Amino acid sequence: MLPQSLALESVSADTVGVTTKRGTDAGKTAPGTQHGRGENLHRIRQRADRHRVTPGSGSNPAPSVRTVQPSVFVLDKCKQPLMPTSPARAKQLLRAGRARVVRLHPFTIRLVDRTREHSAVEGVQIKIDPGSRCTGVSVVRVPPSEAVHGLFGIEIQHRGRQISKNLTSRAALRRGRRSRNLRHRAPRFSNRMTPQGWLAPSLQHRVDSTSSVVSRLRTIAPVTSVAMELVRFDLQKLVNPEITGTEYQQGTLAGFEVREYLLAKWHRSCAYCEVSGVGPRSVPMNIDHIRPRVKGGSNRVSNLALACVPCNQAKGSRDVAEFVTDPARLARIAAQAQRPLVDAAAVNATRWVLYEAIKATGLPVHTGTGGRTKWNRVSNGLPKSHTLDALCVGGITGVAAVPNAVLVATSTGRGTYARTRSDKYGFPRLRLTRQKRHFGFATGDHVRAVVSTGTNTGTYVGRVAVRASGRFNITTTRPDGKSVTVQGIHHRHFRLLNRADGWSYTRKEEERI
Ligand SMILES: [Zn+2]
Repeated sequence: MLPQSLALESVSADTVGVTTKRGTDAGKTAPGTQHGRGENLHRIRQRADRHRVTPGSGSNPAPSVRTVQPSVFVLDKCKQPLMPTSPARAKQLLRAGRARVVRLHPFTIRLVDRTREHSAVEGVQIKIDPGSRCTGVSVVRVPPSEAVHGLFGIEIQHRGRQISKNLTSRAALRRGRRSRNLRHRAPRFSNRMTPQGWLAPSLQHRVDSTSSVVSRLRTIAPVTSVAMELVRFDLQKLVNPEITGTEYQQGTLAGFEVREYLLAKWHRSCAYCEVSGVGPRSVPMNIDHIRPRVKGGSNRVSNLALACVPCNQAKGSRDVAEFVTDPARLARIAAQAQRPLVDAAAVNATRWVLYEAIKATGLPVHTGTGGRTKWNRVSNGLPKSHTLDALCVGGITGVAAVPNAVLVATSTGRGTYARTRSDKYGFPRLRLTRQKRHFGFATGDHVRAVVSTGTNTGTYVGRVAVRASGRFNITTTRPDGKSVTVQGIHHRHFRLLNRADGWSYTRKEEERI
């Protein structure tokens, strides 16, 4: 399998502070003076404004983005998707008896007196920013020729880590059983080969859950196209040797591509002292010319490296051979610098599988790069979040409106086939019931419990875990975002809100603009 974890990590992609250097500007960026993520947002915005392609944007440097309430999805009387509407309009329709509630998450209503033929349906676009822990999904209004109007945002929380943990523990138990002094068991099948295009289950899960969300959205919204971030940097742009003096700066689109590329190529750490640019003890990084400009070094990406501020300053205008005395390290830097660009494409493998999966749905799929996404987001003055990144994927002319809240969908799975649990030695410990549903409820159902007497008095809304005894547990989210489990509530207090669908849902505020 190809290495990929770094490519998928959209969070850490922003944690390294890369500042630019041009000749003697090198030392001006002291550590700690930058924006929280290593960006000087104000300066980037100024630079980005200078390079904006939108006509007329030069006279209006501050982008104005409205925040709106997340839209409500609407179906017609035959359950065909119509254009999403505002919550206020949905409320009116429900009050007037013209609509029924179909789903709570995402909130969807069905009009009882309208068909799709009698409605104006322009269509919506789904935009995806794939990540390793979280994938951002934004539903936006088309046509995309105008500024992007965000309708709804979903943050998909993957459980790849959990899958990987479960499989590791299963493998350990099996290994333990094999090494015990038991009779020989002939292998039942060959599990020593992985087929072409195989992805680890934890990675395949990201592809599956993201394409599942896309197909679910298609049932409640008139989706006409999908846009996704396919690669983090555009290799075509980087191969172009005409990257001139200013283009590797952050403020330009090409600069964002170069920056993303260098972060991946140098593993987010300083080329000279190998101090890391990620994690709790991260330091800001500069872009350094391996062979300095004054000595005729070019601006080609093969001559650029990441360097921490002290190394960058210490090196100054010296050549790399003068600065690095250790010959082994010097050879390593030279080899890394000359590594062909094509290698970097391999890290995007999971995204390509996702791209193929979405293309198989028959929808037109537009693709963008990570550098482009970031450039769009920063030049529109938007903060970093998964859903806002998704909103800024691909070629956009501006951002008009952004939903002020996000639906957080955490992948929970649909339970287990195994009907026993094992103890720490791998022996069966208890028997689980054959049936999944007890008293009309299954584990994972979204329910509401109203308890009027006893120690658990109160109203709870959340995810239920059923027991054959009829006394269930409910997990709710408190206003401060912590989840609490209340145990042993009798089944008669429960009312079903949504059947289990492999996800648990909460809502959170979007990052402040
Ligand atoms: Zn260093």
